[in-house]
Amino acid sequence: MLEAVGLSKSFGQLEILSEIDLRVMPQELVFLIGPSGSGKSTLLRCCNRLEEATSGDILFEGVNIGSPKVNVNLLRTKIGMVFQSFNLYPHMTALENVMLALRKVAGKGKAEAREIGLAMLARVGLAERCEHYPGQLSGGQQQRVAIARTLALEPKVVLFDEPTSALDPELVGGVLNTMRELRESGMTMVVVSHEMRFAREAADRVIFMADGRIVEQDTAEEIFERPRHPRLREFLSQIN
Ligand code: ATP
Ligand code: MG
Repeated sequence: MLEAVGLSKSFGQLEILSEIDLRVMPQELVFLIGPSGSGKSTLLRCCNRLEEATSGDILFEGVNIGSPKVNVNLLRTKIGMVFQSFNLYPHMTALENVMLALRKVAGKGKAEAREIGLAMLARVGLAERCEHYPGQLSGGQQQRVAIARTLALEPKVVLFDEPTSALDPELVGGVLNTMRELRESGMTMVVVSHEMRFAREAADRVIFMADGRIVEQDTAEEIFERPRHPRLREFLSQIN
């Protein structure tokens, strides 16, 4: 479904990603962990061309996304992304925020955008809050609006970059529930997160990155119970 082949990325002289090979299968939930600066965000951003790879390729459904023929806006609807900061427009209601993407990016008419927007907000448990402005919503609710906005565009894969890191602890659960439901619906997901309990419960595969490389990858159980690489052991001892 989504595949990186020999992906490298440098900023100036500094190599941030080195020869990454990653293949995400349909309906798989892949968890990415690793120390700060190991390149997790950069890897996600390369996957929908928020960053251009320096060398190597990314294939999405068999098509090289680096090709000049690829429509990047369309690609970003198919490979959706959810960020730590929700990036909602403060002067627009939850529904208007979701509708905007549908109108501008997917070219839907107002009535259809409204219908889809309401359905997506219901899906993330916010049917009652659709007329609220971001400032009237908790951080967790705002993040769920951002997820609804991404889902409205009917992505095939959703990339999550620390979706709960900006939230107060009591708000994390609601967002994880939404992600859990999304997973149960069969969505393919790549998740960068420090929520190791969620990784144990939901990940099909956990990938540990360090210094721009994939150091170890396995089931959550193997990664957490029987880590092999010293870097991974060190990382796990620091977070526990
Ligand atoms: P964190 O857990 O802190 O989010 P990360 O694993 O997501 O870290 P990245 O954000 O991918 O790490 O960054 C990897 C490295 O690339 C860091 O050293 C960072 O300073 C560098 N980097 C990222 N973006 C740029 C940029 N636009 N220009 C220069 N260097 C960058
Ligand atoms: Mg990051």
